[in-house]
Amino acid sequence: MKLSKRLETIASQVPAGSRLADIGSDHALLPVYLVQQGMIPYAVAGEINPGPYEAAKKQVAEAGLSHCIAVRRGDGLQAVQAGEVDVITIAGMGGALIVHILEQGRSKLEAVQTLVLQPNIGEDQVRHWLTANGWRLAAEQLLEEDGKYYEVLTAQRDAENGDTAGTANLYAPRMLACGIQVEESLLYRLGPYLIDSPNEAFYAKWRSELRKMAGIAQDMGRSDSESAQVRRDALLLEIAKMEEVLACLQKDKP
Ligand code: SAM
Repeated sequence: MKLSKRLETIASQVPAGSRLADIGSDHALLPVYLVQQGMIPYAVAGEINPGPYEAAKKQVAEAGLSHCIAVRRGDGLQAVQAGEVDVITIAGMGGALIVHILEQGRSKLEAVQTLVLQPNIGEDQVRHWLTANGWRLAAEQLLEEDGKYYEVLTAQRDAENGDTAGTANLYAPRMLACGIQVEESLLYRLGPYLIDSPNEAFYAKWRSELRKMAGIAQDMGRSDSESAQVRRDALLLEIAKMEEVLACLQKDKP
């Protein structure tokens, strides 16, 4: 089985030998691939919708893996039993939905050591949830596929005592080599690791996002309402700051 570059990147973050739950698994491509490669011994493929659930069951059965991949219908982490898995992947949804699934499934997370999350939008919401809930962002990847940009966030459970010092340092305001200060809110937005070693996809993604933001600011400019003008000014400031940071990063490029 050949995975997309996006799913391959997610697969590469799943520790070998772990028991995985892939929530919102659709065709169960990720668990089937990982078991077939001998990377993991066991997986749960969770799906809320009947179509993808049937597709997952079919895929697993055709691969002859029904004995080690449990396909279950359920909302979010309802598809998993407490203590059943070490790793959870949730990919291809908005950040708000990923956060909702994690929040609703808190009781199922106790034995889980690794989360691999790939929000299509709202990555900052996911980073905030991780920080607030004792998870340490351990790695980030940003890739482009078919003209779309994807961020893959890998988180590890924080030290036993819930010590979040590492996380606090990760998002502490930092000075770039070119002398620009990057605030915490922007680190949550851009990614604390991604900003350290930005690749071409990073620049392309943010150029595209800034164009969208500028379009929104322009639309707001057509409104007579005072609150729209206030929001527009805030957005223009945000755009200016991000442009400054991106220009600075490009200057710092080796
Ligand atoms: N994870 C796969 C991937 O990244 O290629 C499939 C992504 S697909 C765009 C999103 C899937 O999540 C859909 O199949 C949808 O039915 C499922 N989904 C959405 N909300 C869910 C929830 N609360 N619990 C379980 N599955 C959900």
